[in-house]
Amino acid sequence: MLLIECGPGSTRRWPAFGITFERVRGIVVTHHHVDHCADLAPVMFGRNVPDPPVRTPLAMLGPVGHHALIDGLEGLYGSAVMDPLGMREVIELRDGDRRVVGPFTIDAREVLHVAGSLGLRVTCGGRVLAFSGDSGKCPELTALCRGAHVALLECSYPASRATTKHLNTRTAAETAVDAKLSRVVLTHFYPQCDDVDVAGEVRAAGYTGELVLAEDGLVLDV
Ligand SMILES: [Zn+2]
Ligand SMILES: [Zn+2]
Repeated sequence: MLLIECGPGSTRRWPAFGITFERVRGIVVTHHHVDHCADLAPVMFGRNVPDPPVRTPLAMLGPVGHHALIDGLEGLYGSAVMDPLGMREVIELRDGDRRVVGPFTIDAREVLHVAGSLGLRVTCGGRVLAFSGDSGKCPELTALCRGAHVALLECSYPASRATTKHLNTRTAAETAVDAKLSRVVLTHFYPQCDDVDVAGEVRAAGYTGELVLAEDGLVLDV
């Protein structure tokens, strides 16, 4: 099982979906903003709590600086989050890197957000999921999405809010059109999206393919 992002409170939702510390063999975070990685320490802690501790290997993938982040969490929280059995592997991904975790092939592209922020292309069994991470509209993101069976795109703002380092409903739609996507899932809605017709704005911007607005607990096949 591969986890993409590890935001605040996400581990509390694991049991409802059959996700366990033993089953999660990889966690990839796209960048180090708190909404994407705050639950890494709870995972590190949770693997140590059982007696004996969880012994399955865990690949912890992230952008440049990921070693420093994990080291920092260990410095902050001490032995409770350390890796006494040596089961964790911390891997930093740069633009163009490819890593394999179990049946998943992960291709990373640097996208337009903060330095080193990653978008991901995850391939498994011939099916491809593209994930924007946090990103503004940019050629790298479009290339990342091209040919994906499903693209999971952030959509932080309504069209009325111009933004360069996130997508809004208009630039998400433009990215989908440019990448010739036929199946798009939008996520990462900021509160500014609460009172607007997100789907309507995406349609108005020209995207005509399948559109899903993600919510907690959404399950879909790629
Ligand atoms: Zn961010
Ligand atoms: Zn974010």
